[in-house]
Amino acid sequence: MTTDATSTSSGLGSIDRGAGRVHVDDKAMINARADVNQLLPLKYHWAWEKYLAGCANHWMPTEVSMQADIALWRTPTGLTDDERHTIKRNLGFFAASESLVANNVVLAVYRHLTNPECRQYLLRQAFEEAVHTHTFQYVCESLGLDGGELFNMYREVPSITDKAAWALDHTQNLEDPGFRTGTPETDRAFLRDLVAFYVVFEGMWFYTGFAQILSFGRRNKMVGVAEQYQYILRDESIHLNFGVDVINQIKAENPHLWTDAFQAEVRTMLGEACELEVAYGRDTMPNGLLGLNAGQCERYMRFITNRRCAQLGLAPVFGAVDNPFPWMSEAIDLKKEKNFFETRVTEYASGSSLDWD
Ligand code: MN
Ligand code: FE
Repeated sequence: MTTDATSTSSGLGSIDRGAGRVHVDDKAMINARADVNQLLPLKYHWAWEKYLAGCANHWMPTEVSMQADIALWRTPTGLTDDERHTIKRNLGFFAASESLVANNVVLAVYRHLTNPECRQYLLRQAFEEAVHTHTFQYVCESLGLDGGELFNMYREVPSITDKAAWALDHTQNLEDPGFRTGTPETDRAFLRDLVAFYVVFEGMWFYTGFAQILSFGRRNKMVGVAEQYQYILRDESIHLNFGVDVINQIKAENPHLWTDAFQAEVRTMLGEACELEVAYGRDTMPNGLLGLNAGQCERYMRFITNRRCAQLGLAPVFGAVDNPFPWMSEAIDLKKEKNFFETRVTEYASGSSLDWD
Protein backbone atom coordinates (compact mmCIF):
# COMPACT_ATOMS: atom_id res chain seq x y z
CA MET A 1 0.00 0.00 0.00
CA THR A 2 1.61 3.24 -1.15
CA THR A 3 -1.34 5.57 -0.69
CA ASP A 4 -1.92 7.53 2.50
CA ALA A 5 -5.25 7.52 4.31
CA THR A 6 -6.51 10.68 2.61
CA SER A 7 -5.97 9.64 -0.97
CA THR A 8 -7.39 6.21 -0.15
CA SER A 9 -10.65 7.68 1.15
CA SER A 10 -10.96 10.22 -1.68
CA GLY A 11 -10.53 7.54 -4.32
CA LEU A 12 -8.23 9.95 -6.19
CA GLY A 13 -4.85 8.71 -4.96
CA SER A 14 -2.33 6.98 -7.21
CA ILE A 15 -3.41 3.58 -8.43
CA ASP A 16 -2.15 0.57 -6.54
CA ARG A 17 -1.24 -1.55 -9.58
CA GLY A 18 -1.75 -5.22 -9.05
CA ALA A 19 -3.74 -4.78 -5.84
CA GLY A 20 -6.12 -7.63 -5.10
CA ARG A 21 -9.85 -7.51 -5.66
CA VAL A 22 -12.17 -5.93 -3.13
CA HIS A 23 -13.49 -8.26 -0.46
CA VAL A 24 -16.88 -7.35 0.87
CA ASP A 25 -15.62 -7.72 4.44
CA ASP A 26 -13.04 -4.97 3.84
CA LYS A 27 -15.79 -2.46 3.08
CA ALA A 28 -16.73 -0.20 5.98
CA MET A 29 -18.77 2.97 6.55
CA ILE A 30 -15.86 5.05 7.84
CA ASN A 31 -12.09 4.63 7.77
CA ALA A 32 -12.36 1.84 5.19
CA ARG A 33 -9.32 0.28 3.52
CA ALA A 34 -11.24 -1.11 0.53
CA ASP A 35 -11.01 0.82 -2.77
CA VAL A 36 -13.82 3.41 -2.80
CA ASN A 37 -13.93 3.38 -6.61
CA GLN A 38 -15.51 -0.10 -6.78
CA LEU A 39 -19.24 -0.35 -6.23
CA LEU A 40 -19.33 -4.15 -6.43
CA PRO A 41 -19.44 -6.33 -4.47
CA LEU A 42 -22.22 -4.52 -2.61
CA LYS A 43 -22.12 -4.63 1.14
CA TYR A 44 -24.88 -2.23 2.21
CA HIS A 45 -27.95 -3.18 0.20
CA TRP A 46 -30.05 -0.64 2.14
CA ALA A 47 -27.95 2.17 0.63
CA TRP A 48 -28.32 0.84 -2.91
CA GLU A 49 -32.07 0.43 -2.44
CA LYS A 50 -32.37 4.06 -1.35
CA TYR A 51 -30.47 5.13 -4.46
CA LEU A 52 -32.98 3.20 -6.59
CA ALA A 53 -35.95 4.63 -4.63
CA GLY A 54 -34.63 8.18 -5.08
CA CYS A 55 -34.30 7.65 -8.84
CA ALA A 56 -37.83 6.19 -9.01
CA ASN A 57 -39.15 9.38 -7.38
CA HIS A 58 -37.66 11.75 -9.94
CA TRP A 59 -39.58 15.02 -10.37
CA MET A 60 -38.95 18.63 -11.38
CA PRO A 61 -40.61 21.71 -9.86
CA THR A 62 -41.40 23.18 -13.27
CA GLU A 63 -43.80 20.28 -13.94
CA VAL A 64 -46.14 21.68 -11.30
CA SER A 65 -48.57 24.39 -12.38
CA MET A 66 -48.42 27.57 -10.30
CA GLN A 67 -51.41 29.29 -11.95
CA ALA A 68 -53.82 28.90 -9.03
CA ASP A 69 -51.16 30.01 -6.52
CA ILE A 70 -50.28 33.08 -8.60
CA ALA A 71 -53.95 34.09 -8.86
CA LEU A 72 -54.50 33.64 -5.13
CA TRP A 73 -51.28 35.46 -4.18
CA ARG A 74 -52.17 38.43 -6.39
CA THR A 75 -55.72 38.75 -5.03
CA PRO A 76 -55.45 41.28 -2.18
CA THR A 77 -58.11 39.48 -0.14
CA GLY A 78 -57.00 35.99 -1.21
CA LEU A 79 -54.89 35.37 1.89
CA THR A 80 -54.75 37.02 5.31
CA ASP A 81 -51.67 38.92 6.44
CA ASP A 82 -50.95 36.09 8.89
CA GLU A 83 -51.13 33.54 6.08
CA ARG A 84 -48.74 35.57 3.91
CA HIS A 85 -46.35 35.93 6.86
CA THR A 86 -46.31 32.17 7.45
CA ILE A 87 -45.83 31.34 3.79
CA LYS A 88 -42.92 33.76 3.37
CA ARG A 89 -41.09 32.65 6.52
CA ASN A 90 -41.68 29.04 5.55
CA LEU A 91 -40.26 29.52 2.05
CA GLY A 92 -37.41 31.60 3.51
CA PHE A 93 -36.42 28.85 5.92
CA PHE A 94 -36.37 26.17 3.22
CA ALA A 95 -34.72 28.33 0.53
CA ALA A 96 -31.30 28.52 2.21
CA SER A 97 -31.67 25.28 4.19
CA GLU A 98 -31.66 23.17 1.04
CA SER A 99 -28.27 24.67 0.16
CA LEU A 100 -26.90 24.21 3.68
CA VAL A 101 -27.87 20.54 3.52
CA ALA A 102 -26.46 20.16 -0.01
CA ASN A 103 -23.15 21.77 0.96
CA ASN A 104 -22.84 19.50 3.97
CA VAL A 105 -23.56 16.42 1.84
CA VAL A 106 -21.01 17.30 -0.81
CA LEU A 107 -18.26 18.96 1.24
CA ALA A 108 -18.40 17.03 4.52
CA VAL A 109 -20.41 13.79 4.46
CA TYR A 110 -19.11 12.62 1.08
CA ARG A 111 -15.47 13.03 2.12
CA HIS A 112 -15.74 10.95 5.26
CA LEU A 113 -18.19 8.21 4.30
CA THR A 114 -15.77 5.71 2.77
CA ASN A 115 -18.24 3.41 1.09
CA PRO A 116 -19.08 3.46 -2.63
CA GLU A 117 -22.75 2.45 -2.36
CA CYS A 118 -23.33 5.16 0.25
CA ARG A 119 -21.54 7.64 -2.01
CA GLN A 120 -23.77 6.56 -4.89
CA TYR A 121 -26.77 7.53 -2.78
CA LEU A 122 -25.10 10.82 -1.75
CA LEU A 123 -24.67 11.75 -5.41
CA ARG A 124 -28.39 11.17 -5.94
CA GLN A 125 -29.25 13.10 -2.78
CA ALA A 126 -27.06 16.01 -3.85
CA PHE A 127 -29.04 16.28 -7.08
CA GLU A 128 -32.33 16.13 -5.16
CA GLU A 129 -31.16 19.03 -2.96
CA ALA A 130 -30.45 20.97 -6.16
CA VAL A 131 -34.02 20.20 -7.32
CA HIS A 132 -35.33 21.45 -3.98
CA THR A 133 -33.36 24.70 -4.21
CA HIS A 134 -34.69 25.03 -7.77
CA THR A 135 -38.21 24.68 -6.31
CA PHE A 136 -37.73 27.78 -4.16
CA GLN A 137 -36.30 29.71 -7.09
CA TYR A 138 -39.34 28.64 -9.17
CA VAL A 139 -41.87 29.54 -6.46
CA CYS A 140 -40.12 32.88 -5.86
CA GLU A 141 -40.21 33.74 -9.55
CA SER A 142 -43.79 32.51 -10.03
CA LEU A 143 -45.21 34.53 -7.15
CA GLY A 144 -43.02 37.57 -7.85
CA LEU A 145 -41.40 37.46 -4.40
CA ASP A 146 -38.19 39.29 -3.54
CA GLY A 147 -35.45 36.69 -3.98
CA GLY A 148 -33.00 38.62 -1.81
CA GLU A 149 -35.50 38.76 1.04
CA LEU A 150 -36.32 35.06 0.74
CA PHE A 151 -32.82 33.65 0.40
CA ASN A 152 -31.24 36.00 2.98
CA MET A 153 -33.91 35.23 5.60
CA TYR A 154 -31.63 32.72 7.30
CA ARG A 155 -29.36 35.64 8.19
CA GLU A 156 -32.11 38.16 8.98
CA VAL A 157 -34.84 36.33 10.89
CA PRO A 158 -33.54 35.27 14.34
CA SER A 159 -35.69 32.12 14.69
CA ILE A 160 -34.29 30.87 11.36
CA THR A 161 -30.73 32.06 12.05
CA ASP A 162 -30.74 30.27 15.42
CA LYS A 163 -31.50 26.94 13.75
CA ALA A 164 -28.90 27.30 10.99
CA ALA A 165 -26.26 28.47 13.50
CA TRP A 166 -26.97 25.49 15.77
CA ALA A 167 -26.53 23.03 12.90
CA LEU A 168 -23.35 24.73 11.67
CA ASP A 169 -21.87 24.56 15.18
CA HIS A 170 -21.95 20.78 14.81
CA THR A 171 -20.09 20.78 11.52
CA GLN A 172 -17.38 23.36 12.31
CA ASN A 173 -14.77 20.66 13.04
CA LEU A 174 -15.27 19.18 9.61
CA GLU A 175 -14.63 22.59 8.03
CA ASP A 176 -10.96 22.24 8.91
CA PRO A 177 -9.22 20.96 5.75
CA GLY A 178 -6.98 18.86 7.98
CA PHE A 179 -9.92 17.10 9.64
CA ARG A 180 -9.75 13.30 9.40
CA THR A 181 -11.84 10.60 10.96
CA GLY A 182 -10.00 7.70 12.58
CA THR A 183 -9.87 8.58 16.26
CA PRO A 184 -12.82 8.25 18.67
CA GLU A 185 -12.93 12.06 18.95
CA THR A 186 -13.02 12.73 15.22
CA ASP A 187 -15.37 9.81 14.50
CA ARG A 188 -17.78 11.27 17.07
CA ALA A 189 -17.41 14.70 15.48
CA PHE A 190 -18.55 13.13 12.21
CA LEU A 191 -21.50 11.43 13.97
CA ARG A 192 -22.51 14.83 15.43
CA ASP A 193 -22.58 16.26 11.92
CA LEU A 194 -24.76 13.38 10.71
CA VAL A 195 -27.16 13.82 13.62
CA ALA A 196 -27.36 17.60 13.13
CA PHE A 197 -28.03 17.44 9.41
CA TYR A 198 -29.88 14.17 8.74
CA VAL A 199 -31.80 13.68 11.95
CA VAL A 200 -32.36 17.30 13.03
CA PHE A 201 -32.32 19.46 9.91
CA GLU A 202 -33.95 17.08 7.45
CA GLY A 203 -35.72 14.86 9.98
CA MET A 204 -37.15 17.36 12.47
CA TRP A 205 -36.98 20.95 11.27
CA PHE A 206 -38.49 20.38 7.85
CA TYR A 207 -41.59 18.84 9.39
CA THR A 208 -43.22 21.98 10.88
CA GLY A 209 -42.78 23.55 7.46
CA PHE A 210 -44.34 20.55 5.70
CA ALA A 211 -47.31 20.59 8.11
CA GLN A 212 -47.87 24.31 7.50
CA ILE A 213 -47.83 24.19 3.71
CA LEU A 214 -49.77 20.93 3.48
CA SER A 215 -52.43 22.58 5.68
CA PHE A 216 -52.81 25.28 3.05
CA GLY A 217 -53.13 22.58 0.39
CA ARG A 218 -55.78 20.74 2.38
CA ARG A 219 -57.82 23.97 2.33
CA ASN A 220 -57.28 24.34 -1.40
CA LYS A 221 -54.86 27.26 -0.98
CA MET A 222 -51.39 27.46 -2.55
CA VAL A 223 -52.01 24.07 -4.14
CA GLY A 224 -48.98 24.25 -6.44
CA VAL A 225 -46.56 24.94 -3.59
CA ALA A 226 -48.29 22.25 -1.52
CA GLU A 227 -47.85 19.73 -4.32
CA GLN A 228 -44.16 20.59 -4.55
CA TYR A 229 -43.82 20.16 -0.79
CA GLN A 230 -45.37 16.71 -1.09
CA TYR A 231 -42.60 15.73 -3.51
CA ILE A 232 -39.95 17.31 -1.29
CA LEU A 233 -41.37 15.49 1.74
CA ARG A 234 -41.16 12.19 -0.11
CA ASP A 235 -37.49 12.86 -0.99
CA GLU A 236 -36.67 14.04 2.52
CA SER A 237 -38.17 10.96 4.09
CA ILE A 238 -35.57 8.90 2.20
CA HIS A 239 -32.77 11.33 3.13
CA LEU A 240 -33.73 10.98 6.80
CA ASN A 241 -33.93 7.21 6.66
CA PHE A 242 -30.60 7.01 4.86
CA GLY A 243 -29.03 9.16 7.59
CA VAL A 244 -30.52 6.99 10.33
CA ASP A 245 -29.23 3.84 8.63
CA VAL A 246 -25.78 5.40 8.21
CA ILE A 247 -25.58 6.36 11.89
CA ASN A 248 -26.82 2.97 13.06
CA GLN A 249 -24.39 1.13 10.77
CA ILE A 250 -21.45 3.24 12.02
CA LYS A 251 -22.58 2.43 15.58
CA ALA A 252 -22.73 -1.30 14.79
CA GLU A 253 -19.24 -1.28 13.28
CA ASN A 254 -17.75 1.00 15.97
CA PRO A 255 -19.58 0.24 19.22
CA HIS A 256 -16.85 1.98 21.24
CA LEU A 257 -18.10 5.33 19.87
CA TRP A 258 -21.63 4.91 21.24
CA THR A 259 -20.88 5.41 24.93
CA ASP A 260 -23.48 6.34 27.54
CA ALA A 261 -22.01 9.85 27.61
CA PHE A 262 -22.27 10.20 23.83
CA GLN A 263 -25.84 8.86 23.82
CA ALA A 264 -26.73 11.45 26.44
CA GLU A 265 -25.10 14.11 24.29
CA VAL A 266 -27.14 13.11 21.22
CA ARG A 267 -30.36 13.17 23.25
CA THR A 268 -29.44 16.66 24.46
CA MET A 269 -28.89 17.70 20.85
CA LEU A 270 -32.37 16.46 19.88
CA GLY A 271 -33.93 18.25 22.87
CA GLU A 272 -32.22 21.53 21.91
CA ALA A 273 -33.29 21.11 18.30
CA CYS A 274 -36.88 20.60 19.42
CA GLU A 275 -36.79 23.85 21.43
CA LEU A 276 -35.41 25.78 18.46
CA GLU A 277 -38.21 24.42 16.30
CA VAL A 278 -40.88 25.33 18.84
CA ALA A 279 -39.54 28.92 18.84
CA TYR A 280 -39.65 28.92 15.03
CA GLY A 281 -43.27 27.69 15.14
CA ARG A 282 -44.27 30.59 17.40
CA ASP A 283 -42.45 33.05 15.19
CA THR A 284 -44.01 31.84 11.94
CA MET A 285 -47.55 31.44 13.35
CA PRO A 286 -47.90 34.00 16.14
CA ASN A 287 -51.71 33.82 16.02
CA GLY A 288 -52.27 30.36 14.58
CA LEU A 289 -53.98 29.76 11.24
CA LEU A 290 -55.82 27.13 9.21
CA GLY A 291 -56.56 25.11 12.33
CA LEU A 292 -52.84 25.03 13.20
CA ASN A 293 -51.28 26.76 16.16
CA ALA A 294 -47.86 26.92 17.77
CA GLY A 295 -48.99 24.71 20.67
CA GLN A 296 -49.91 21.86 18.30
CA CYS A 297 -46.62 22.33 16.47
CA GLU A 298 -44.83 22.00 19.80
CA ARG A 299 -46.62 18.70 20.50
CA TYR A 300 -45.91 17.54 16.97
CA MET A 301 -42.19 18.35 17.33
CA ARG A 302 -42.03 16.49 20.66
CA PHE A 303 -43.69 13.50 19.00
CA ILE A 304 -41.15 13.68 16.14
CA THR A 305 -38.24 14.08 18.59
CA ASN A 306 -39.23 10.92 20.45
CA ARG A 307 -39.62 9.07 17.17
CA ARG A 308 -36.09 10.08 16.08
CA CYS A 309 -34.73 8.90 19.44
CA ALA A 310 -36.37 5.52 18.89
CA GLN A 311 -34.90 5.28 15.38
CA LEU A 312 -31.41 5.84 16.83
CA GLY A 313 -31.99 3.38 19.68
CA LEU A 314 -32.11 6.15 22.30
CA ALA A 315 -34.51 6.64 25.19
CA PRO A 316 -37.19 9.27 24.42
CA VAL A 317 -36.51 12.89 25.41
CA PHE A 318 -40.16 13.58 26.30
CA GLY A 319 -42.92 11.62 28.01
CA ALA A 320 -45.46 9.88 25.74
CA VAL A 321 -46.85 12.33 23.14
CA ASP A 322 -49.58 11.65 20.56
CA ASN A 323 -49.21 12.83 16.99
CA PRO A 324 -51.51 15.89 16.71
CA PHE A 325 -51.28 15.73 12.89
CA PRO A 326 -52.16 12.14 11.95
CA TRP A 327 -53.04 13.36 8.44
CA MET A 328 -49.33 14.05 7.85
CA SER A 329 -48.80 10.29 7.67
CA GLU A 330 -51.09 10.12 4.65
CA ALA A 331 -49.63 13.07 2.78
CA ILE A 332 -46.61 11.10 1.63
CA ASP A 333 -48.51 8.39 -0.22
CA LEU A 334 -48.95 10.11 -3.56
CA LYS A 335 -50.64 7.19 -5.25
CA LYS A 336 -53.31 6.95 -2.62
CA GLU A 337 -53.68 10.71 -2.25
CA LYS A 338 -53.56 11.48 -5.94
CA ASN A 339 -56.41 13.98 -5.71
CA PHE A 340 -55.38 15.32 -2.36
CA PHE A 341 -55.05 18.86 -3.67
CA GLU A 342 -57.34 18.47 -6.69
CA THR A 343 -54.54 19.48 -8.95
CA ARG A 344 -52.62 17.71 -11.66
CA VAL A 345 -50.29 15.19 -10.17
CA THR A 346 -47.91 13.44 -12.52
CA GLU A 347 -47.76 9.80 -11.60
CA TYR A 348 -44.25 8.84 -10.70
CA ALA A 349 -43.19 5.39 -9.77
CA SER A 350 -43.16 5.59 -6.02
CA GLY A 351 -40.41 4.43 -3.74
CA SER A 352 -42.98 2.64 -1.62
CA SER A 353 -42.66 1.09 1.82
CA LEU A 354 -40.94 4.11 3.30
CA ASP A 355 -40.89 4.61 7.00
CA TRP A 356 -41.15 8.33 6.61
CA ASP A 357 -42.71 10.06 9.61
MN1 MN B 1 -34.03 18.79 0.50
FE1 FE C 1 -32.67 16.41 1.98
